[in-house]
Amino acid sequence: MKNGNTQEQGSGDALPFLEFAAPGVLELRPYEPGMPVEELQRRLGVANAIKLASNENPLGASPKVRQALAQAAQGNLALYPDDGGFRLKAKLAALHGVGPESITLCNGSNTLLDLVARVFLGDGRAAMYSEYAFAVYPLVTLAQNAEAIVVPALPPDSAMPYGDDVDGFVRMLRPDVAVIFIASPNNPTGTWVEAAEFERFMARVPAHTIVVLDEAYHAFQDPALRIASGRLMRSYPNLMITRTFSKAHGLAALRVGYGVAHPRVTDLLHRVRQPFNNGTLALLAAELALDDTDHVARTVELNTRERARVAAALQAMGLRTLPSQANFLAIDFGRSSAPIHQALLEQGVIVRPMGSYHLPNFLRVSIGTESENDRFLGALRQALHP
Ligand SMILES: *Cc1c(COP(=O)(O)O)cnc(C)c1O
Repeated sequence: MKNGNTQEQGSGDALPFLEFAAPGVLELRPYEPGMPVEELQRRLGVANAIKLASNENPLGASPKVRQALAQAAQGNLALYPDDGGFRLKAKLAALHGVGPESITLCNGSNTLLDLVARVFLGDGRAAMYSEYAFAVYPLVTLAQNAEAIVVPALPPDSAMPYGDDVDGFVRMLRPDVAVIFIASPNNPTGTWVEAAEFERFMARVPAHTIVVLDEAYHAFQDPALRIASGRLMRSYPNLMITRTFSKAHGLAALRVGYGVAHPRVTDLLHRVRQPFNNGTLALLAAELALDDTDHVARTVELNTRERARVAAALQAMGLRTLPSQANFLAIDFGRSSAPIHQALLEQGVIVRPMGSYHLPNFLRVSIGTESENDRFLGALRQALHP
Protein backbone atom coordinates (compact mmCIF):
# COMPACT_ATOMS: atom_id res chain seq x y z
CA MET A 1 0.00 0.00 0.00
CA LYS A 2 2.67 2.51 -1.00
CA ASN A 3 1.05 5.82 -1.78
CA GLY A 4 3.37 6.70 -4.61
CA ASN A 5 4.67 9.98 -3.27
CA THR A 6 7.10 8.56 -0.75
CA GLN A 7 10.77 8.60 -1.53
CA GLU A 8 11.87 5.94 0.88
CA GLN A 9 12.64 2.55 -0.61
CA GLY A 10 13.18 0.70 2.67
CA SER A 11 16.29 -1.22 3.65
CA GLY A 12 19.16 -1.84 1.30
CA ASP A 13 19.35 1.84 0.39
CA ALA A 14 21.49 4.41 2.08
CA LEU A 15 18.84 5.04 4.73
CA PRO A 16 18.43 1.74 6.59
CA PHE A 17 16.78 3.43 9.59
CA LEU A 18 13.62 3.75 7.50
CA GLU A 19 13.04 0.09 8.26
CA PHE A 20 12.08 1.15 11.76
CA ALA A 21 9.73 3.94 10.74
CA ALA A 22 6.15 3.10 11.68
CA PRO A 23 4.57 1.35 8.67
CA GLY A 24 1.42 3.45 8.98
CA VAL A 25 3.48 6.63 8.84
CA LEU A 26 5.28 5.46 5.70
CA GLU A 27 1.87 5.12 4.05
CA LEU A 28 0.66 8.57 5.02
CA ARG A 29 0.19 11.52 2.78
CA PRO A 30 0.70 14.75 4.68
CA TYR A 31 -2.28 17.06 5.18
CA GLU A 32 -2.70 19.56 2.34
CA PRO A 33 -3.58 22.95 3.78
CA GLY A 34 -5.25 25.80 1.90
CA MET A 35 -2.69 27.98 0.14
CA PRO A 36 -1.66 31.03 2.19
CA VAL A 37 -2.07 34.42 0.48
CA GLU A 38 1.69 35.01 0.70
CA GLU A 39 2.44 31.79 -1.16
CA LEU A 40 0.22 32.79 -4.09
CA GLN A 41 2.03 36.11 -4.21
CA ARG A 42 5.37 34.29 -4.22
CA ARG A 43 4.34 31.72 -6.84
CA LEU A 44 2.28 33.72 -9.31
CA GLY A 45 3.13 37.29 -8.31
CA VAL A 46 -0.58 37.98 -7.76
CA ALA A 47 -1.20 40.92 -5.44
CA ASN A 48 -4.42 41.50 -3.45
CA ALA A 49 -5.26 37.83 -3.31
CA ILE A 50 -8.13 36.64 -1.15
CA LYS A 51 -8.23 33.31 0.61
CA LEU A 52 -11.48 31.36 0.70
CA ALA A 53 -9.76 28.05 1.24
CA SER A 54 -9.62 27.17 4.94
CA ASN A 55 -13.05 28.10 6.34
CA GLU A 56 -11.67 30.91 8.47
CA ASN A 57 -13.85 33.71 9.86
CA PRO A 58 -14.02 36.54 7.27
CA LEU A 59 -14.72 39.05 10.06
CA GLY A 60 -11.54 38.02 11.84
CA ALA A 61 -11.29 37.72 15.61
CA SER A 62 -13.52 39.71 17.95
CA PRO A 63 -12.25 43.30 18.43
CA LYS A 64 -12.34 42.64 22.18
CA VAL A 65 -9.92 39.74 21.73
CA ARG A 66 -7.54 41.78 19.60
CA GLN A 67 -7.48 44.59 22.12
CA ALA A 68 -6.84 42.27 25.04
CA LEU A 69 -4.08 40.46 23.14
CA ALA A 70 -2.28 43.72 22.40
CA GLN A 71 -2.23 44.43 26.12
CA ALA A 72 -1.31 40.88 27.10
CA ALA A 73 1.67 41.00 24.74
CA GLN A 74 3.13 43.57 27.14
CA GLY A 75 2.94 41.02 29.98
CA ASN A 76 5.53 38.46 31.03
CA LEU A 77 5.92 36.14 28.06
CA ALA A 78 8.84 34.38 29.73
CA LEU A 79 6.51 32.43 32.03
CA TYR A 80 4.94 29.14 31.01
CA PRO A 81 1.15 29.24 30.59
CA ASP A 82 -1.37 27.87 33.09
CA ASP A 83 -1.08 24.18 32.22
CA GLY A 84 -4.60 23.37 33.39
CA GLY A 85 -6.16 26.31 31.50
CA PHE A 86 -8.26 26.81 34.62
CA ARG A 87 -10.35 29.81 33.57
CA LEU A 88 -11.11 28.68 30.02
CA LYS A 89 -11.92 25.19 31.20
CA ALA A 90 -14.32 26.54 33.85
CA LYS A 91 -16.14 28.59 31.21
CA LEU A 92 -16.38 25.67 28.81
CA ALA A 93 -17.57 23.33 31.57
CA ALA A 94 -20.35 25.79 32.44
CA LEU A 95 -21.28 26.17 28.77
CA HIS A 96 -21.64 22.42 28.33
CA GLY A 97 -23.17 21.69 31.74
CA VAL A 98 -20.35 19.34 32.76
CA GLY A 99 -17.52 19.46 35.27
CA PRO A 100 -14.03 20.65 34.27
CA GLU A 101 -12.89 17.02 34.53
CA SER A 102 -14.79 16.42 31.26
CA ILE A 103 -12.90 19.07 29.28
CA THR A 104 -9.63 18.62 27.38
CA LEU A 105 -7.99 21.73 25.98
CA CYS A 106 -5.82 21.35 22.94
CA ASN A 107 -3.65 23.20 20.52
CA GLY A 108 -6.37 23.06 17.85
CA SER A 109 -9.00 20.35 17.85
CA ASN A 110 -6.95 18.36 15.33
CA THR A 111 -4.53 17.65 18.14
CA LEU A 112 -7.37 16.23 20.15
CA LEU A 113 -8.17 13.78 17.35
CA ASP A 114 -4.56 12.69 17.56
CA LEU A 115 -4.79 12.19 21.33
CA VAL A 116 -7.88 10.02 20.88
CA ALA A 117 -6.01 7.92 18.33
CA ARG A 118 -2.98 7.59 20.60
CA VAL A 119 -5.09 6.40 23.51
CA PHE A 120 -7.55 4.12 21.71
CA LEU A 121 -5.98 3.04 18.42
CA GLY A 122 -2.98 0.87 17.57
CA ASP A 123 -2.09 -2.49 16.04
CA GLY A 124 -5.05 -4.82 15.86
CA ARG A 125 -7.63 -2.09 16.29
CA ALA A 126 -9.67 -0.23 13.73
CA ALA A 127 -11.17 3.22 13.22
CA MET A 128 -14.16 4.00 11.03
CA TYR A 129 -14.96 7.12 9.09
CA SER A 130 -16.89 8.09 5.99
CA GLU A 131 -15.51 8.08 2.45
CA TYR A 132 -15.39 11.89 2.26
CA ALA A 133 -14.51 12.52 5.88
CA PHE A 134 -12.12 15.16 7.21
CA ALA A 135 -8.52 14.39 6.14
CA VAL A 136 -7.18 14.31 9.69
CA TYR A 137 -9.08 11.08 10.55
CA PRO A 138 -7.04 8.89 8.19
CA LEU A 139 -3.88 10.71 9.27
CA VAL A 140 -4.23 9.96 12.97
CA THR A 141 -5.51 6.43 12.30
CA LEU A 142 -2.64 5.37 10.05
CA ALA A 143 -0.07 7.06 12.28
CA GLN A 144 -1.06 4.55 15.01
CA ASN A 145 -0.85 1.56 12.63
CA ALA A 146 -4.54 1.02 13.12
CA GLU A 147 -6.76 -0.25 10.34
CA ALA A 148 -9.06 2.23 8.62
CA ILE A 149 -12.57 1.08 7.74
CA VAL A 150 -13.86 3.57 5.21
CA VAL A 151 -17.64 3.61 4.99
CA PRO A 152 -19.03 4.40 1.52
CA ALA A 153 -20.78 7.75 1.46
CA LEU A 154 -24.44 8.27 0.64
CA PRO A 155 -24.94 8.21 -3.13
CA PRO A 156 -24.65 11.42 -5.21
CA ASP A 157 -28.38 11.37 -6.01
CA SER A 158 -29.53 10.97 -2.40
CA ALA A 159 -30.99 13.69 -0.17
CA MET A 160 -27.58 14.10 1.50
CA PRO A 161 -25.19 13.51 -1.43
CA TYR A 162 -21.68 12.37 -0.41
CA GLY A 163 -22.71 12.55 3.27
CA ASP A 164 -22.04 10.11 6.12
CA ASP A 165 -24.18 6.97 5.93
CA VAL A 166 -24.71 6.13 9.59
CA ASP A 167 -26.60 2.92 8.73
CA GLY A 168 -23.57 1.95 6.65
CA PHE A 169 -21.36 2.46 9.70
CA VAL A 170 -23.53 0.08 11.71
CA ARG A 171 -23.50 -2.53 8.92
CA MET A 172 -19.70 -2.43 8.70
CA LEU A 173 -19.02 -2.48 12.45
CA ARG A 174 -16.57 -5.09 13.73
CA PRO A 175 -15.59 -6.05 17.27
CA ASP A 176 -12.15 -4.42 16.83
CA VAL A 177 -13.53 -0.95 16.01
CA ALA A 178 -12.23 1.23 18.82
CA VAL A 179 -13.06 4.67 17.40
CA ILE A 180 -15.63 6.11 15.00
CA PHE A 181 -15.01 9.61 13.65
CA ILE A 182 -18.00 11.59 12.39
CA ALA A 183 -18.02 15.31 11.61
CA SER A 184 -21.43 16.96 11.48
CA PRO A 185 -21.51 19.27 9.63
CA ASN A 186 -18.77 17.52 7.68
CA ASN A 187 -15.74 19.02 5.98
CA PRO A 188 -15.21 18.99 2.95
CA THR A 189 -18.84 18.31 1.95
CA GLY A 190 -20.83 20.57 4.31
CA THR A 191 -23.35 17.75 4.75
CA TRP A 192 -24.69 16.74 8.15
CA VAL A 193 -26.15 13.79 9.99
CA GLU A 194 -29.77 14.26 10.99
CA ALA A 195 -30.26 14.49 14.75
CA ALA A 196 -32.79 11.63 14.99
CA GLU A 197 -30.63 9.42 12.78
CA PHE A 198 -27.58 10.07 14.95
CA GLU A 199 -29.57 9.07 18.05
CA ARG A 200 -30.61 5.80 16.45
CA PHE A 201 -26.98 5.28 15.45
CA MET A 202 -25.68 5.82 19.01
CA ALA A 203 -28.19 3.26 20.30
CA ARG A 204 -26.64 0.67 17.95
CA VAL A 205 -22.95 1.37 18.53
CA PRO A 206 -21.40 -1.01 21.07
CA ALA A 207 -20.36 0.53 24.38
CA HIS A 208 -16.69 -0.34 23.79
CA THR A 209 -16.47 1.90 20.72
CA ILE A 210 -15.64 5.59 21.22
CA VAL A 211 -17.67 7.85 18.94
CA VAL A 212 -15.95 11.17 18.24
CA LEU A 213 -18.50 13.70 17.03
CA ASP A 214 -16.49 16.53 15.48
CA GLU A 215 -18.53 19.72 15.83
CA ALA A 216 -16.07 22.19 14.30
CA TYR A 217 -18.94 23.81 12.36
CA HIS A 218 -21.55 23.59 15.10
CA ALA A 219 -22.09 27.36 15.33
CA PHE A 220 -23.01 27.59 11.64
CA GLN A 221 -25.67 24.93 11.78
CA ASP A 222 -29.35 25.80 12.07
CA PRO A 223 -30.16 25.12 15.76
CA ALA A 224 -33.20 23.09 14.67
CA LEU A 225 -30.88 20.63 12.87
CA ARG A 226 -28.22 20.22 15.55
CA ILE A 227 -27.55 16.89 17.22
CA ALA A 228 -28.36 17.06 20.95
CA SER A 229 -24.84 15.89 21.71
CA GLY A 230 -24.82 17.21 25.28
CA ARG A 231 -27.94 15.24 26.18
CA LEU A 232 -26.68 12.13 24.37
CA MET A 233 -23.37 12.22 26.25
CA ARG A 234 -25.29 11.73 29.48
CA SER A 235 -26.69 8.43 28.15
CA TYR A 236 -23.60 7.32 26.24
CA PRO A 237 -20.25 7.58 28.08
CA ASN A 238 -18.55 6.43 24.84
CA LEU A 239 -19.64 9.62 23.01
CA MET A 240 -17.28 12.57 22.95
CA ILE A 241 -17.47 15.84 21.08
CA THR A 242 -14.76 18.13 19.77
CA ARG A 243 -15.07 21.85 19.09
CA THR A 244 -12.68 24.51 17.87
CA PHE A 245 -12.04 28.23 18.16
CA SER A 246 -10.61 28.24 14.62
CA LYS A 247 -13.86 28.72 12.72
CA ALA A 248 -16.77 30.80 14.07
CA HIS A 249 -14.59 32.35 16.79
CA GLY A 250 -11.98 33.51 14.28
CA LEU A 251 -8.91 32.30 16.18
CA ALA A 252 -7.33 29.87 13.70
CA ALA A 253 -3.97 31.65 14.07
CA LEU A 254 -3.84 30.85 17.78
CA ARG A 255 -4.72 27.13 17.73
CA VAL A 256 -7.29 26.36 20.40
CA GLY A 257 -9.73 23.48 20.38
CA TYR A 258 -11.28 21.29 23.04
CA GLY A 259 -13.05 18.05 23.71
CA VAL A 260 -15.93 17.18 25.99
CA ALA A 261 -15.92 13.57 27.13
CA HIS A 262 -16.55 11.26 30.04
CA PRO A 263 -14.11 12.12 32.89
CA ARG A 264 -12.42 8.71 32.50
CA VAL A 265 -11.79 9.34 28.79
CA THR A 266 -10.64 12.86 29.57
CA ASP A 267 -8.24 11.52 32.17
CA LEU A 268 -6.65 9.20 29.59
CA LEU A 269 -6.35 11.99 27.02
CA HIS A 270 -4.59 14.13 29.63
CA ARG A 271 -1.98 11.45 30.18
CA VAL A 272 -0.73 11.69 26.61
CA ARG A 273 -1.12 15.39 25.90
CA GLN A 274 1.97 17.55 26.00
CA PRO A 275 2.44 19.82 28.99
CA PHE A 276 1.59 23.49 28.33
CA ASN A 277 -0.20 22.62 25.09
CA ASN A 278 -2.01 25.98 24.94
CA GLY A 279 -0.14 29.28 25.06
CA THR A 280 -1.09 32.03 27.48
CA LEU A 281 -2.29 34.37 24.74
CA ALA A 282 -4.28 31.59 23.08
CA LEU A 283 -6.03 30.72 26.35
CA LEU A 284 -6.87 34.37 27.00
CA ALA A 285 -8.14 34.89 23.46
CA ALA A 286 -10.37 31.81 23.63
CA GLU A 287 -11.88 32.95 26.93
CA LEU A 288 -12.73 36.37 25.56
CA ALA A 289 -13.96 34.96 22.26
CA LEU A 290 -16.35 32.75 24.18
CA ASP A 291 -17.70 35.81 26.02
CA ASP A 292 -18.21 37.82 22.83
CA THR A 293 -21.36 36.02 21.76
CA ASP A 294 -22.36 39.06 19.64
CA HIS A 295 -19.32 38.58 17.43
CA VAL A 296 -20.16 34.91 16.89
CA ALA A 297 -23.80 35.84 16.18
CA ARG A 298 -22.71 38.42 13.57
CA THR A 299 -20.40 35.82 12.01
CA VAL A 300 -23.16 33.22 11.81
CA GLU A 301 -25.69 35.72 10.45
CA LEU A 302 -23.29 36.83 7.70
CA ASN A 303 -22.51 33.23 6.84
CA THR A 304 -26.14 32.09 6.66
CA ARG A 305 -27.10 35.03 4.44
CA GLU A 306 -24.08 34.83 2.16
CA ARG A 307 -24.07 31.04 1.89
CA ALA A 308 -27.61 31.20 0.49
CA ARG A 309 -26.72 34.04 -1.88
CA VAL A 310 -23.56 32.34 -3.21
CA ALA A 311 -25.36 29.00 -3.60
CA ALA A 312 -28.15 30.71 -5.59
CA ALA A 313 -25.61 32.51 -7.80
CA LEU A 314 -23.79 29.22 -8.48
CA GLN A 315 -27.06 27.51 -9.29
CA ALA A 316 -27.89 30.31 -11.72
CA MET A 317 -24.54 29.55 -13.40
CA GLY A 318 -25.70 25.96 -13.85
CA LEU A 319 -23.46 24.56 -11.10
CA ARG A 320 -24.49 22.10 -8.43
CA THR A 321 -23.52 22.63 -4.79
CA LEU A 322 -23.85 20.09 -2.00
CA PRO A 323 -26.24 20.89 0.85
CA SER A 324 -24.19 22.77 3.45
CA GLN A 325 -24.72 23.69 7.08
CA ALA A 326 -21.12 24.90 7.39
CA ASN A 327 -19.28 28.06 6.32
CA PHE A 328 -18.32 26.74 2.89
CA LEU A 329 -19.84 25.22 -0.23
CA ALA A 330 -18.63 22.20 -2.19
CA ILE A 331 -19.19 22.86 -5.90
CA ASP A 332 -19.50 20.10 -8.49
CA PHE A 333 -18.21 21.13 -11.93
CA GLY A 334 -19.01 17.78 -13.54
CA ARG A 335 -15.48 17.70 -14.98
CA SER A 336 -11.98 18.17 -13.62
CA SER A 337 -11.94 21.32 -11.49
CA ALA A 338 -8.16 21.74 -11.87
CA PRO A 339 -8.25 24.29 -14.75
CA ILE A 340 -10.91 26.31 -12.92
CA HIS A 341 -8.85 26.23 -9.74
CA GLN A 342 -5.85 27.49 -11.69
CA ALA A 343 -7.85 30.25 -13.41
CA LEU A 344 -9.14 31.41 -10.02
CA LEU A 345 -5.60 31.47 -8.60
CA GLU A 346 -4.45 33.59 -11.50
CA GLN A 347 -7.16 36.08 -10.57
CA GLY A 348 -6.03 36.08 -6.95
CA VAL A 349 -8.84 33.93 -5.56
CA ILE A 350 -7.68 30.98 -3.48
CA VAL A 351 -10.18 28.13 -3.02
CA ARG A 352 -9.65 24.50 -2.09
CA PRO A 353 -9.25 21.72 -4.64
CA MET A 354 -10.78 18.43 -3.47
CA GLY A 355 -8.63 15.97 -5.39
CA SER A 356 -7.01 14.77 -2.18
CA TYR A 357 -10.54 13.89 -1.03
CA HIS A 358 -11.10 11.85 -4.21
CA LEU A 359 -13.50 14.49 -5.50
CA PRO A 360 -11.46 15.87 -8.41
CA ASN A 361 -14.49 17.51 -10.04
CA PHE A 362 -15.19 19.63 -6.97
CA LEU A 363 -13.87 22.83 -5.46
CA ARG A 364 -14.62 23.93 -1.91
CA VAL A 365 -15.10 27.64 -1.35
CA SER A 366 -15.32 29.23 2.07
CA ILE A 367 -18.00 31.88 2.54
CA GLY A 368 -16.33 35.27 2.88
CA THR A 369 -17.55 38.83 3.27
CA GLU A 370 -20.00 40.13 0.66
CA SER A 371 -17.23 41.75 -1.36
CA GLU A 372 -15.00 38.65 -1.18
CA ASN A 373 -17.89 36.48 -2.37
CA ASP A 374 -18.61 38.90 -5.22
CA ARG A 375 -14.99 38.74 -6.21
CA PHE A 376 -15.06 34.94 -6.17
CA LEU A 377 -18.26 34.81 -8.26
CA GLY A 378 -16.84 37.31 -10.76
CA ALA A 379 -13.58 35.37 -11.06
CA LEU A 380 -15.50 32.12 -11.49
CA ARG A 381 -17.63 33.57 -14.32
CA GLN A 382 -14.41 34.68 -15.95
CA ALA A 383 -12.85 31.24 -15.45
CA LEU A 384 -15.85 29.46 -16.99
CA HIS A 385 -16.34 31.86 -19.93
CA PRO A 386 -12.95 33.44 -20.63
C1 LIG B 1 -11.28 23.02 10.74
C2 LIG B 1 -11.68 21.69 11.28
C3 LIG B 1 -11.26 21.29 12.54
C4 LIG B 1 -10.52 22.22 13.45
O1 LIG B 1 -9.20 22.26 13.35
P1 LIG B 1 -8.34 23.05 14.43
O2 LIG B 1 -7.20 22.13 14.64
O3 LIG B 1 -9.15 23.22 15.68
O4 LIG B 1 -8.00 24.34 13.79
C5 LIG B 1 -11.66 20.06 13.03
N1 LIG B 1 -12.46 19.28 12.33
C6 LIG B 1 -12.93 19.65 11.12
C7 LIG B 1 -13.88 18.76 10.41
C8 LIG B 1 -12.51 20.85 10.56
O5 LIG B 1 -12.94 21.18 9.34
